[in-house]
Amino acid sequence: MPLRILIVGGSIGGLFAATLLHRAGFDVRVRERSVHGLEGRGAGLVAQQEVFAMLREIGRDHLAHFGVTARERIYLDRAGEVIQRHHMPQTQLSWDVLFRAFRELFPADRYEGGRNVVDVEHQGAGVALRYADGTRELADVIIGADGIGSQIRPAVVGSGSHPSYVGYATWRGLVPEQAMPKRAAQTLFERFAFYEMPGSHILGYLVPGADGSIEPGYRRYNWVWYRRYSGPEIASVLTDTEGRVHPFSLAPPQVARDAAHSLHADAVRLLPPAFAEAVCVELRPFVHAIFDYSAPRMVANGIALVGDAAFVARPHTAMGVAKAAGDAFALRDAFVRHEDPAAALAAYERGRFEIDREVVNYGVRLGSALE
Ligand SMILES: Cc1cc2nc3c(=O)[nH]c(=O)nc-3n(C[C@H](O)[C@H](O)[C@H](O)COP(=O)(O)OP(=O)(O)OC[C@H]3O[C@@H](n4cnc5c(N)ncnc54)[C@H](O)[C@@H]3O)c2cc1C
Repeated sequence: MPLRILIVGGSIGGLFAATLLHRAGFDVRVRERSVHGLEGRGAGLVAQQEVFAMLREIGRDHLAHFGVTARERIYLDRAGEVIQRHHMPQTQLSWDVLFRAFRELFPADRYEGGRNVVDVEHQGAGVALRYADGTRELADVIIGADGIGSQIRPAVVGSGSHPSYVGYATWRGLVPEQAMPKRAAQTLFERFAFYEMPGSHILGYLVPGADGSIEPGYRRYNWVWYRRYSGPEIASVLTDTEGRVHPFSLAPPQVARDAAHSLHADAVRLLPPAFAEAVCVELRPFVHAIFDYSAPRMVANGIALVGDAAFVARPHTAMGVAKAAGDAFALRDAFVRHEDPAAALAAYERGRFEIDREVVNYGVRLGSALE
């Protein structure tokens, strides 16, 4: 009988691992908390070589061309003048296109949404997931691909190891290309644009449309504004429309109208006109607090962590998806090489631990100027 593997989390990291392990002949099932699916919720991603390797692996190399290329980098001053210009072409792929490709490849009857895992426990020789509705499901191996707030993580690293807030957050907007004011579009489109100020910066670039479209007129402008917040301030930033404080981020519908208004007012006060316009035209911005996390170990007793469940790297690295792809390859290779699950898990950890930790450290170095 093939090894039964349950993967918690059906985002990119979970799907990468699920697809590779399924194609290698294992009995793989994915359990995802989201009820309505994750389609249409991503933006652009800077693809690294692991992502191209992943696309080649599944025979979808052509998707690497579904990106929007920024020809150059420009740096603006407060008045909006270009003070530096560098020829540095860079392509943004669509997170959604990548997600959809893997979602379509992985058998639908093995991917279940609306499954909120609350705990993992050992049962005989196996490991069991416990869901919020009280049901349980048994497997030989469990893979925690459940992101920064992983419920699986404590079973591997204990209860005292958590992501640490680094002192700043990103506000983001995704504006349909046609909704961008003309002046902002002229300054910002087809390039990576930056504006830096003490303790803060904003950057922006075009990404594919929500449906993956890369045709001019159907793309989206993605801006990312890094801002510093103290501990008490970030709790207030992460408070949703109903007064609940979220641990990591707020999605667009959760951001209170007052918070969006105050962001717009700050944009007019602090940013060059083109960026101020791009921020103000976004009525539904969303926010992510930035965290560092390095798991002290990635595996324990029939359980492995992959992607952001194991290591959270700051967004400056643009390596979150590539890191998850690297983990998935290593996991598949380890299970193919070792019949004994414990040996496979140990090999996986040996192969990835230092690499993933270095990605986190790289993010710390890149972000130090903002702290
Ligand atoms: C909707 C969405 C859009 C994103 N868009 C982008 C983008 O445009 N560009 C980019 O570079 N990165 C994006 N990311 C982040 C990127 O996917 C991750 O940083 C990185 O690839 C690591 O992925 P991951 O699968 O480890 O974690 P995540 O992508 O965070 O996925 C974790 C998954 O686990 C699920 N989950 C969490 N807890 C439980 C639980 N208890 N039970 C069951 N399931 C659970 C979550 O619902 C989520 O689907 C996005 C993530 C998500 C979820």
